[in-house]
Amino acid sequence: MPLHIIRQDITKLECDAIVNAANNTLLGGGGVDGAIHKAAGGKLLEECKTLDGCDTGDAKITKAYNLPCKHVIHTVGPIWRGGENGEKKLLESCYKKSLALAKENGCESVAFPLISSGVYGYPKDKALSVAVETISEFLFDNEMTVYIVVFDKASYQISEELFDDVQEYIDDNYVDEKEERRLYNRPRRIFSSECDFEVGSVCFEEKLASPKKLDVSLIDMLANIDDNFAVTLLKLIDLKGITDVECYKKANVSKQTWYKIMNEKDYKPSKNTVISFAIALELSLEETKHLLSTVGFTLSKSNKFDIIIEYFLLNEEYNIFTINETLFKFDQVCLGV
Ligand code: ADP
Repeated sequence: MPLHIIRQDITKLECDAIVNAANNTLLGGGGVDGAIHKAAGGKLLEECKTLDGCDTGDAKITKAYNLPCKHVIHTVGPIWRGGENGEKKLLESCYKKSLALAKENGCESVAFPLISSGVYGYPKDKALSVAVETISEFLFDNEMTVYIVVFDKASYQISEELFDDVQEYIDDNYVDEKEERRLYNRPRRIFSSECDFEVGSVCFEEKLASPKKLDVSLIDMLANIDDNFAVTLLKLIDLKGITDVECYKKANVSKQTWYKIMNEKDYKPSKNTVISFAIALELSLEETKHLLSTVGFTLSKSNKFDIIIEYFLLNEEYNIFTINETLFKFDQVCLGV
C-alpha cells in the first residue's frame, strides 16, 4: 500500500530514506533528531556541518551511515505559534520538499515522523492531517511507498465524538460468540448518536431503503454469478465514472497489487484490499457485501474490524485515512496493511 501509518521507532526502519525533523542548524537536537544522530553515529554530524543549515520548510539530504536506511532527509518544521502564522504552508512544504528530494534520489520508500508535532508544538491531530493530505496528493502522481511513523498512540486524535460514536456502535452491534444467545434477544441499536433506531424498526428500514444507501439497481447490474472480483471491480469503476488509476490510488492500493488483480487469474485479494476498493468506490453496505462475496468474504457481527467498517459504510464516511485512524485507535489492523 503506498501510504502506511505505523507505530515504530523511525531509526529502525529499513527503507530507502527516513526523514528527520531537524532544526535550522542541522547540527542535531532532541527528540527524533537526537535519536537519528545517535543511531547514525558521528559521521552524520560531520556531513551535516557541510550543509550550511536549512531554512524552515526546506529539506536537505545526507547519507545514513549506521542507520538501516540509505539516506536521511533533514527538514525543518515550523514552530507552532497558534496556527495563524503560516505554519500549515510551511509544514506542507516540509513534506513536499522531502518527497521531491526522495524522488530525485531514486527512493522507492520513505518514512516520515510527525514533523513539528514534538518540541515544536504543532497539535498532533493537525500535524497528522497535514502529513496525510500532502503525502496523498504527492502519491496521486508518483509511485512510492510512504510511511508516517507515529511514536505514540496519542498522535491518533480522531475526534472524541467519532470515537464515542464508533465505540457505541461496536457496543451495540458486537456479538461475542460466547454471549451470542444472550444478546440475540436484545434489540440492537444503530446510529445511536443520531436517532434511536432499532434493528428491524421502521426507522432503520427507511434508512437502508433510501436509494443513496442501498442502490438496488446497481446490485442488479452486478448480479452476474460468473463475475469474479476483477470483473466486478471493473464494472463498478465504470458505473461510478472514475478511472482505474483514480480508483486504486484512492483505495491506497499499490500499482503492483492492481496489476496482480487484473492479470493473475488465480490471485485472491485480501479482505482488506477488497474493503479498500469498496471505500474508494464509495459503495453502500450492500454493494460492499456483494463485492466481498465475489472472493468468498463477508462482514461479521463477531468481528470488531467488520463492525467498524460497517459503521463507516452506513454513515457514508469514505475517507480511508479517517477510517484507518479509527481502526488504529480501536487496536484493529488498518486497511491495506
Ligand atoms: P519537532 O521539533 O519537529 O517537533 P520532535 O523530534 O520533537 O520534532 O518530534 C517530532 C515527532 O517525532 C513527535 O511526534 C515525536 O513523538 C516523534 N518521535 C520522537 N522520537 C521518535 C522516533 N525515534 N521515531 C519516530 N518518531 C519519533
